[in-house]
Amino acid sequence: MISDKSTLVDELRRTIRDVNNFPKPGIVFKDVTPVLLDVKLFAQTVQLMAEPYRDARVTRVVSIESRGFLFGAPIALELGAGLVPIRKPGKLPAATQRIEYALEYGTDALEMHYDAVQPGDRVLIVDDVLATGGTANAAAQLVGGTGAAVAGFSFLIELDFLKGRQRLQGRRVEALLHYA
Ligand code: AMP
Repeated sequence: MISDKSTLVDELRRTIRDVNNFPKPGIVFKDVTPVLLDVKLFAQTVQLMAEPYRDARVTRVVSIESRGFLFGAPIALELGAGLVPIRKPGKLPAATQRIEYALEYGTDALEMHYDAVQPGDRVLIVDDVLATGGTANAAAQLVGGTGAAVAGFSFLIELDFLKGRQRLQGRRVEALLHYA
């Protein structure tokens, strides 16, 4: 059972920890690990992140290394969908496809197993934080390249001031918490 959404969002806002100047000076890092310590809060967060997509016929949840895994895995179970990890280069053992992307702090690349998503799949992309949208956009491109459809994105946190949503235009974007 999900308790009142605004109550949960208030509790999340109190629980998520700001860590200043991590991993670089000037970045305020949203540390979601305290949420994982609170069993009831974690469970309700997963349910609310899955909620908008219950009727979206999602067949795969693609989650982004590494904090995306923490929420992607239970959301996949919640939606009855297969779980696909998207990882930093060199971490996935089998044949992958790769994409380069720009991050809020630096640049990086992402890889996904070639056979993890197929044409005809409907994919929900999950991560903890939407910042500039570079990572999420790269994940959508990887998924799109397989011929699958992106049903949308589910984030725990959206940093509205970084305008990541603009890079995901035309897509369904859901986030529980917004920081203006
Ligand atoms: P971006 O590509 O700029 O949208 O960055 C999103 C990715 O970087 C996500 O995987 C987040 O986990 C991480 N990230 C970016 N900014 C922050 C932040 N302020 N706090 C925590 N994680 C962040």
